[in-house]
This record gives sequence, C-alpha cells and structure tokens, in this order.
Amino acid sequence: MNQERAKWQAVRDDYAENLGKSVVARLETKGFKARYAATSEEARQILFFLIPEEASVGIPGSVTLRELGLIEALHKRGNTVYQHWDAALNPEEKPRRLQEELSSDIFLTGSNAVTLDGTIVNIDGTGNRVAGMAWGANRLIIVVGVNKICRDVESALARVRDAATPPNTQRLNMATPCATTGYCSDCNSPQRVCRAVLILERCPFGRDAHVIIVGESLGF
Ligand code: SF4
Repeated sequence: MNQERAKWQAVRDDYAENLGKSVVARLETKGFKARYAATSEEARQILFFLIPEEASVGIPGSVTLRELGLIEALHKRGNTVYQHWDAALNPEEKPRRLQEELSSDIFLTGSNAVTLDGTIVNIDGTGNRVAGMAWGANRLIIVVGVNKICRDVESALARVRDAATPPNTQRLNMATPCATTGYCSDCNSPQRVCRAVLILERCPFGRDAHVIIVGESLGF
C-alpha cells in the first residue's frame, strides 16, 4: 500500500473503531457480552477464546463467517462443525443438520444488521437462524462487520431488504425480483426469502450471548 493510501486507510480504521466501540458499549447495556475486533485475525482469536476445543459448533447460513475462514479453522482445530451449507449434504439430510446446528454447544452466526443503540436485526427465509438467535440453552456468538451498523431499526430493516438480500438471492440464482434489480420490491415470489423477522431488543433471558463487532466490511 502506498503512503497516501495508507494514510487514508488509517482514517477509515479509526472511524471503524470509533463506531464499533460505540455499538459495543450500547450492546453491553442490553445484556450482551460485546467486544470490538479491529481485524478478522483479532476476531478469530476472540472466537477461539470463546469456543472450547471440545465444543460442537453450529453455523447457519452466513457469508461473514465463511469470509473469516472459520469453518476450515474450526475443523482444523478439532471442533465438530455442523453446517447445512455443506456441499456433500443430501437434501434429505438437511432437516437433521439444521437441528444439529441449533443444538450444538455453540450457535455461531452472523447478523444482517445491528443498530447504533445495540438492537440486533435479522430476516430469515427458513427461520432456523432467527430461531437459534432467539432461544437456545447453548452459547450464542454473533459476528458483525462494521458495514452492517445502521442508525435504527427502520434503516436496519431497509438494509436487509435493499443491501443484504439482493446479493444473497443473486448468488443462489433465486427467482426473486431483487436478484436481478438489486433492490427490494416487497415481492410475493414463491422463492421470497424475507419471511421471519427477529428484532433482539435485549439479550434474551438466561442466554449466554456474545457479540463481536469487527472493524472490517464482512458479508452482505
Ligand atoms: S421481499 Fe422479495 S424482493 Fe424484497 S428483498 Fe425479500 S426476496 Fe427480495
């Protein structure tokens, strides 16, 4: 990186840290155990601290976690990983795999958005991810890039529909309008993936819930 570029990158990094740490402080007032990680590497170190070596880990659909290389890293470390995006999985095995994800020792997920006041916002098609975030006897860990921080719930919901879902349906070749237009038209398509909305205003009662805000752009 040339000197000029490095100078502006340093400004972006400081901005990400200011914003990320502001949200971490708000999440902590809402019962989440929150931390800021400046880089993907720092995030992986925190995750390895929070996930015991013998723990099973359930990972639902999340581009963020795959961008962090966590599936391979956890496998290599010896953790049992359950994930329904496994290319070797037969369609008949998928329901059982979804259950295994939910009942793992650790439910490790990304998030569509988090607001400035520490509210976590997600929209799901199958409902498995929002189910695992809303309830579980296991440890919940949510990893979010600073690109997903939104001012409030309204802008978070708009982010999911206009920024997160179009590239997701596009990569899956789904027959939804947003897959080709790049924005939401509140469709009634049979393949509509916006079906279950979860707004976590506080950490659910009794849940051991951790949030890591990463100072990089991750996922959609
Ligand atoms: S409601 Fe339909 S068009 Fe809008 S984001 Fe969801 S799937 Fe795409």
